[in-house]
Amino acid sequence: MAKVTFEKVVKKYGNVLAVDDLNLELEDGKFTVLVGPSGCGKTTTLRMIAGLEDVTSGIISIDKLDVTSLEPKDRDISMVFQNYALYAHLTVAENIIFPLLARGGKRVEAQGRLQEVAKMLNISHLLERKPKELSGGQQQRVAIGRAIARAPKVFLFDEPLSNLDAKLRVEMRTELLRLQRQLKTTTVYVTHDQEEAMTLSDVMIVMKDGKILQKGSPIDIYEYPNDTFVASFVGSPRMNLISGLCDRGLFTSESGIKSIVKNIGPKKTVLGIRPEEILLVPAVEADFMATIEIVELLGPRAIVTLQVASEHLTAIVNTSDMGSIQEGLEVGVKFRKDRTHLFDEKTQVRL
Ligand code: ADP
Ligand code: MG
Repeated sequence: MAKVTFEKVVKKYGNVLAVDDLNLELEDGKFTVLVGPSGCGKTTTLRMIAGLEDVTSGIISIDKLDVTSLEPKDRDISMVFQNYALYAHLTVAENIIFPLLARGGKRVEAQGRLQEVAKMLNISHLLERKPKELSGGQQQRVAIGRAIARAPKVFLFDEPLSNLDAKLRVEMRTELLRLQRQLKTTTVYVTHDQEEAMTLSDVMIVMKDGKILQKGSPIDIYEYPNDTFVASFVGSPRMNLISGLCDRGLFTSESGIKSIVKNIGPKKTVLGIRPEEILLVPAVEADFMATIEIVELLGPRAIVTLQVASEHLTAIVNTSDMGSIQEGLEVGVKFRKDRTHLFDEKTQVRL
């Protein structure tokens, strides 16, 4: 168990500012996910914790110990990469116990730990195989096995599931959670996939351009995004964002979208509304009218694309409530009360 702290950490590659003045505390025993678009500095951040990348300036500590200039091997962390990086000429068993033996562990003890880890990951029957005789999912399990064979202070995962197919990715996600609940080791996990971040994290950190935009529980970030970037990055289908004027408790867009909102303004704003908070209602109850452009059935729910003049809105509707919803028809729309988000149009920051 360990706490990881960043103080004013900067990383430059030549002129590229990869990580920009990072101040951050990663909590002991928690599953923290760094999420953000490609190139935002996630891998760099992780590699700096591991010691695989020097910091340009600033301090990284693990449990109050300044590790900024320690070698990777002296930091007591385990890292799992996207591309597994197994030793091709070693068996699964040898791959898993390698880090134990490399640190001077005894072979007998390593064998005991191997059996435990293999059981945990359901790979006991694969121990004598070579990596090339395994599927992608099995290889990834072995890579995770190698990381957890030791009991390090911190686990680092860099997009470990992105090479797996969708079904396996969801299964492995659940297994990783089960594993972390069991081991309670401080874990830092990097992904560009907001759904993976939402499902895995105790603490979620949204990054962009080398900076932290927001840190919090997934539900807090989903419900109270700090700005329009976080608002549209987190959640799928993404939050609708509509430019318009707020005045005396009423929001109006140029296209004719209207909603009762909190009493601010007159001010140019961006209104955010999640697809599941858009209600399709009879005309008499509606705040405005829209045309149903496209209906995509997902099973129990459907994605409905609405058109209001030149503007498009994405709504999610329960299939059982669809009634007369058909492409081409006019429908009344209102936004669920108190579920709208308002952002300053100029700064894009939450109001
Ligand atoms: P992410 O993992 O979020 O996709 P990275 O941490 O890999 O982002 O990269 C952050 C920024 O640093 C990017 O602009 C990337 O091009 C740059 N970068 C990363 N590694 C290097 C490197 N070894 N040399 C030069 N630039 C790099
Ligand atoms: Mg990366």
